[in-house]
Amino acid sequence: MPGSLRIGKIAGIDIYIHVSWIIILVLLTVSLAIGWFPQLYPGQSTATYWIVSLIAALLLFVSVLLHELAHSLVARRRGLPVKNITLFIFGGVSNIEQEPKDPGIEFQVAVVGPLTSLLMLQLPLQGTNSPLEEILYYLAVTNILLGVFNLIPAFPLDGGRVLRSIIWKISGSMRQATRAASITGQVIAYLFILLGIWLFFTVSILDGIWLGFIGWFLLSSAQSANSQVMLASVFNGVTVGEVMNPKPTTVPANISLQQLVDVYFLPGGLRYALVMQADQLVGLITLSDIRHIPRDQWGQVSVSYAMIPLERLHVVSPQQTLSDVLPLMAGRDVNQLPVVQNGTPVGIVSRDAIVQYLEVRRGLGVDTPKSDAQNQLRKTA
Ligand SMILES: [Zn+2]
Repeated sequence: MPGSLRIGKIAGIDIYIHVSWIIILVLLTVSLAIGWFPQLYPGQSTATYWIVSLIAALLLFVSVLLHELAHSLVARRRGLPVKNITLFIFGGVSNIEQEPKDPGIEFQVAVVGPLTSLLMLQLPLQGTNSPLEEILYYLAVTNILLGVFNLIPAFPLDGGRVLRSIIWKISGSMRQATRAASITGQVIAYLFILLGIWLFFTVSILDGIWLGFIGWFLLSSAQSANSQVMLASVFNGVTVGEVMNPKPTTVPANISLQQLVDVYFLPGGLRYALVMQADQLVGLITLSDIRHIPRDQWGQVSVSYAMIPLERLHVVSPQQTLSDVLPLMAGRDVNQLPVVQNGTPVGIVSRDAIVQYLEVRRGLGVDTPKSDAQNQLRKTA
């Protein structure tokens, strides 16, 4: 996740904090110090409330981290590589680099997080009304909420993953199970939103907004997790070499944009071309690069001036899979990437070609995944 700071490493897993988490830490500390603790334990000094609140908020962070570590350690024990754990505004995510190979592993990895949170119920409460007990009570309450909330069967929440593993076990198809779990997740999200609207107009405006917000978050996560899994399973194992254009048009760097348009782009119906100088790839020129130059200057401006130079281009190799390359294209908002093998350009991979590839595959009725279990990036909250 961009905007994340690495704070350390536990059992070989990098731990990151996203900036949004720091905002939540501040908000949480403030609301505990002026709301929760003074109401539950009146008559203490302001300084006590603030110190207790900050410690409680930090320990909540430790609880979320323990929840994620439980997911990550079980995943690793079951042979799924774990990239890192990131804590952000809604809690944490464990970035597990593969989808589990069978529903049993999915079940174990998903269920252990909420179980860990619910285990915090066992925190020793002595009834001494000391600051320590105030903090322990707060942690017990929030960890129960954390455990119960994550068990809601709304994919991609842990409960939704548990549901998916059960449907997967019964149906034998991971894709069917993902679709079913995602639909369930969306239905639950809409229920949250409706309940939020109802609360907003009847009981409490703030609770209504809060529930609606959770519903919206669940809805967008369910939709994006579903399309991510679907896309990854369709693209799984498909290499750049299979979908690239192996004979992209090459143009010389020293001609003018006017010549480029008249000689290459218009007659060939091109949208992009590789730019070469003395047999070396030096850049990529696309329609949008040309459009950035005012038309009356096309005669004077050279291709090498308007192009994206090689050092600013991300190049890929024919062996890379589409599941690697698509996030790259989306992240950089580019429509094509040069394909380079041993320093020599061997093709171009474009969004158009990928869409076309998908269409053909669907037309032939072969849009079944090559393998459900490899090369996917899975996020477990
Ligand atoms: Zn979890």
